[in-house]
Amino acid sequence: MSNSRRRSWAEPYKIKMVEPLKMTTREERERAIREAGYNTFLLKSEDVYIDLLTDSGTSAMSDRQWAGMMLGDEAYAGSRNFYHLEAAVREIYGYKHLVPTHQGRAAEHILSKILIKPGDVVPGNMYFTTTRLHQELAGGTFVDVIIDEAHDPASEHPFKGDVDLARLREVIDEVGADKIPYVCIATAVNMAGGQPISLANLRAVRALCDSHGIRIIHDATRVAENAYFIKEREPGCADMSIAEIVRALCDLTDGCTMSAKKDALVNIGGFLALNDDDLFDAARNLVVVYEGLHTYGGMAGRDMEAVAIGLHESVHYDHIKARVGQVKYLGEKLQGYGVPIVVPIGSHGVFLDAKAFLPHLDQDVYPAQTLAAELYLDSGLRAMERGNVSAGRDPETGLNRRPRLELVRLTIPRRVYTQAHLDVTAESVAEVFDHRDGIKGLSMVYEPPQLRFFQARFEPLG
Ligand SMILES: *Cc1c(COP(=O)(O)O)cnc(C)c1O
Repeated sequence: MSNSRRRSWAEPYKIKMVEPLKMTTREERERAIREAGYNTFLLKSEDVYIDLLTDSGTSAMSDRQWAGMMLGDEAYAGSRNFYHLEAAVREIYGYKHLVPTHQGRAAEHILSKILIKPGDVVPGNMYFTTTRLHQELAGGTFVDVIIDEAHDPASEHPFKGDVDLARLREVIDEVGADKIPYVCIATAVNMAGGQPISLANLRAVRALCDSHGIRIIHDATRVAENAYFIKEREPGCADMSIAEIVRALCDLTDGCTMSAKKDALVNIGGFLALNDDDLFDAARNLVVVYEGLHTYGGMAGRDMEAVAIGLHESVHYDHIKARVGQVKYLGEKLQGYGVPIVVPIGSHGVFLDAKAFLPHLDQDVYPAQTLAAELYLDSGLRAMERGNVSAGRDPETGLNRRPRLELVRLTIPRRVYTQAHLDVTAESVAEVFDHRDGIKGLSMVYEPPQLRFFQARFEPLG
């Protein structure tokens, strides 16, 4: 028996500073969610117990990062922290030139402006909201070339972030290489649920792009998380370090946009990195228009120092194993309770399948929105709807889009919560699951014209 005794695992850090959480009663939560129009985006953070709304900018910085903040050189030009960040980007990602920005979408903005002409086409492995919007604002059209499995919540494909090479070849043949300024490759594809691309697939994309003279730009926001899955799953990669895999991924691309609010473990920051000297010149000219001088680009010196240190921490094996491991822990616990979730469990959150959770609700009474509100009522847990409300209306018919995926996202901030918080989370979801038959839907009583999920208001049915 003793040979098979379970050995526990714990987070690879200890707590030096605490932020007290407010505990609320059921009555207080009923009032709070009613006042928020049953929309978790409209809750006050203070009324939330465990906040799994997003992992963007919500990470806990390390003692080293905080120490780095004290070394901020707040010179307008040539801050020493810029050179530290530049060195970190060169060492870890291998890109030659750095253009700092205030966050990821600012890097996307500048990149889109320098590379995309009206009428261009940008193929990519699934869209991301801000990335696609900037491509469109520059006059481009995004074309999804991710494999079909990425759209199926039940497919266990190990690399659901892979590109469908036949589809990409078709797009190149249809529109011509001169209309494709670059192929956009995301690592740990966010909108697919944090699903990785394999090194083998990216190598094949590189070969195809090389034969047509097309660039590859990398959305590196979650590259370390992707590298962890490659180490775990891809044949021949088990003995590579996370840093080696990250470098191998980046070396197959010509530059990157980065939201430092994810992998890099800071609360604000981002950058654009490029290998080409002329493109770098163009980007550096634009960053002074939209962000700030090219040696700070919207970040304080102390912020750049924290990003530089966070980039190094992001490729530590113990860190990334624990980060992805927490997500896996929560996901497996929920599977143990029979709760329907998207598989394989992704890099940054667990996605509840609200259609399977609440099969008696029609999509137009918003099962995922309803479930997110019920979770808050049960325990003060805050999640995010990713379904019919987020998808909005079809501009042609004016009807709800009723997307295939009707999900509630439980996103795990990095280094913020303990395994005990995840236990409380899983138990709360299980409790709501036990009482799912009695749950009625919501009707939308206020609907903003754009990005309605942020500010829409609802009332309970029945
Ligand atoms: C968050 C995110 C972005 C946008 O970055 P911001 O810092 O929020 O502007 C772009 N791509 C991916 C994959 C992201 O997760």
